[in-house]
Amino acid sequence: MSTQSIAQALAWATSEFSAISDSPKLDAQVLLLHVIEKPKSYLYGWSDAQLLEAQQSHLERLVARRKQGEPIAHITGTREFWSLPFYVNASTLIPRPDTETLVETVLAQALPEDTKLLDLGTGTGAIALSLANEHPSWRVTAIDYSSDAVELAKRNRQALALEHVNILQGSWYEPLKGEQFNVIVSNPPYIDPEDPHLEQGDVRFEPRSALVAEDEGYADLFHIISEGRKHLLPGGFMALEHGYNQAAVIHNFFAQLAYINILTIKDMAGCDRITVATWP
Ligand code: GLN
Repeated sequence: MSTQSIAQALAWATSEFSAISDSPKLDAQVLLLHVIEKPKSYLYGWSDAQLLEAQQSHLERLVARRKQGEPIAHITGTREFWSLPFYVNASTLIPRPDTETLVETVLAQALPEDTKLLDLGTGTGAIALSLANEHPSWRVTAIDYSSDAVELAKRNRQALALEHVNILQGSWYEPLKGEQFNVIVSNPPYIDPEDPHLEQGDVRFEPRSALVAEDEGYADLFHIISEGRKHLLPGGFMALEHGYNQAAVIHNFFAQLAYINILTIKDMAGCDRITVATWP
């Protein structure tokens, strides 16, 4: 079996992905580095180095999977979020850069040392664990309905040495026993079941239950906002991720339920993405 050099493998995989990915070169780099188990600098410093036969055939198998549409994060089993490594699998949403805006929004608030924070629909645990890592003194609780997600979040909790984070299984607020929080965050499912975006790209490989909500995508957002009134401490706030075109409806819903200081924040792409509201 003949093998390619690093530079040849990179050029080959990039061209294989040109028709199926928005980021063919980046995808090729990530898969190649995963196969050779080296840091990124290796691609440039060692571009003439020859792949081993086992690496060549491993790369060919992964390139074939990517060409079938499988997300890069599922192939490598990891994704970075808030500069931390997270294990990822098909049982949850793949953490997205948009959601880092939610973490940033919470960190921008002046909050006490003993802040009690709740993350609903935690998935990989990306939001809850990133915040717990920034503020080890906070008491963080994360909930997910899927027991596979809970298992994955617990695996990430252990890998990040954040064992004090409380991870529970259940539907939204259901596993709580009347606890109240200074902060409630969530990136719930919010896509309209009819949205054609669901037939394209990585979302085809992610669980529908993490993406889609009834009532044009609003059902879970409304439930979280409405029930949140029982679970927020006076002066506590909620920060929710939502679709780029859902900010006005979410703003009005918060206002109708007597939340105050309602504010929408844009993601890095300039889209309305997070709405924050305070419970008086
Ligand atoms: N922002 C994601 C997407 O459009 C959806 C995330 C979600 O439903 N919570 O792919």
